[in-house]
Amino acid sequence: MNLPPPVAKDAYNKNLIQIEKAAKVNAEDIMKDAAKRLRERLLVYQLLLTDSESKEYKDWKDAHELKCEINHKGSSEEMKAVAAVVIFSRSINTYTRQLKYSTFVGDGDSSSFGWVKEALER
Ligand SMILES: [Zn+2]
Repeated sequence: MNLPPPVAKDAYNKNLIQIEKAAKVNAEDIMKDAAKRLRERLLVYQLLLTDSESKEYKDWKDAHELKCEINHKGSSEEMKAVAAVVIFSRSINTYTRQLKYSTFVGDGDSSSFGWVKEALER
């Protein structure tokens, strides 16, 4: 067989060190971003608790509405069921994927299953 030689131990260790450095930088960036979002959220809760008619809250709300990523209005329980319907509906396309589900695994109650079953029977 015409295989290249295995990776030398020194080269392997250098790669590991580079991966570790990159992972640390990435983890720090993610944690800083999470802390920033948490501080913002705490500030909003504080503003809401004190005065939802305040200028500070309205300013935050106006700025937030421009970048808000909300994609569901309703209860969190319903959100799970709606997402399950979207996922199952996306996968079942008889012309291209020809998938047939035989098992539905979920947690909690069975409302998501009911939503999916009803949506796909239409
Ligand atoms: Zn939002």
